[in-house]
This record gives sequence, structure tokens and C-alpha cells, in this order.
Amino acid sequence: MLEAYDFVSKKLPVSIRLTDEQKNELLPLVKGIAGSELGSMIASTPIDGQKREYEFSTRIDGVQCIARIDLALRLSEKEWSVVDYKSGKKSEWSLELYKNQVGYYAVLLSYANKVNVPKCAIVYAGTSVSQPEWFEPKITLSNVREAITQIEAGNFKPEADRRCIACPYSGSGGGRWVCKFGWNFVNGNVRRKKKRSKVAREP
Ligand code: SF4
Repeated sequence: MLEAYDFVSKKLPVSIRLTDEQKNELLPLVKGIAGSELGSMIASTPIDGQKREYEFSTRIDGVQCIARIDLALRLSEKEWSVVDYKSGKKSEWSLELYKNQVGYYAVLLSYANKVNVPKCAIVYAGTSVSQPEWFEPKITLSNVREAITQIEAGNFKPEADRRCIACPYSGSGGGRWVCKFGWNFVNGNVRRKKKRSKVAREP
């Protein structure tokens, strides 16, 4: 919902209907963002400089790289910002993970459009006061190129841990069932939890 919300007109597209419960959830979030630096940036950006749910791909060293950006904001002719909305609550480990993801989007946006992306924001929608987490992206084009080279050479060692729970490739949350390491980790945790709750119910 946040991806579609227009902070300038303060409206959702008419195609989106919300229940009263959803409205009650959305309102504090919208107020939090509207009162923040991000809210001012959105409000002062012309509508053609706000790309919502912006999906594009670009080729780096012959490899198709895809980005799905919740909100890309044009700050000036050559300067953009990337904003990503997350449904959960903030945690240190997830923030580090998401900074990499958003940093990767920033690299692709810079590379594809020949612009700079000096700062990005992550907004946790599961946090009651949704002040954005601003950061300077640390991922560089060289990092992406190096990752492509290593992946193509088969030189990567997946390390399944709790970050897999948020990874779309693990199949969690209806995502893509691509990574067997993540799937085994997530599924193993679910099985352990079920077993624990069964034991807890026994008299
Ligand atoms: S699911 Fe796979 S690709 Fe995703 S974080 Fe876990 S090991 Fe890495």
C-alpha cells in the first residue's frame, strides 16, 4: 500500500480499497513518513520524478540484472534516491541485509541511467513510528561485477542462516523456491518450531 500512496495528493489510487483495519494501520505510517525528511523530499519532487514500484533491468558485463524499487526519487537532474519499504519490524541483522539489497538497486539505477545515488532509505512499516533509516550505499559497481564473475565461476558458498527467512529465494513467505540451502534452513526451523509446540501441549 505504501508503494502506491501519493504523499503529494495524500491519497491512494482509487483502484485500492482498504478495510477500516487497514486504514488504521496505514494512517500512523503515512503520518510518520509525511512528517519526516523523506516526506518533505517526496512532496517537493515533481510527479514525473517519482517512480513507484519501478522495475527495470540492465546488462552488466553481459548479465541481465534486475531491480524492483519501491520508490525512486529524482532529487536533481543527476541525483536520485532509492526508498525501500519493508513490512516487518526493524532489527540490526535485517537492516544490514536490506542495505545490501537497496545498495544493489542504487548501483543498477546509477549504471542504467548514468546518475548518482548518494543516499537511500529503508522504511519499516511494522514499526509504529516509521522514521526512515537513511544510509549511504556501500555497494559499488565493482562489487556487483566481482559478484557476477564469482557466481559465473561457481565460486560462492551459500551460508544459510536467519537472513534466509527474509530472502525471496528461500521460498519463505510465498517467494521463489530457488535456493535449496535457504529452503532447508527455513523449513528445518518451521519443523523444529512445530515439534516444540507439540511437546508444549502435552500434559
Ligand atoms: S536463501 Fe539462499 S540465497 Fe537467500 S540468503 Fe539464504 S543461502 Fe543466501
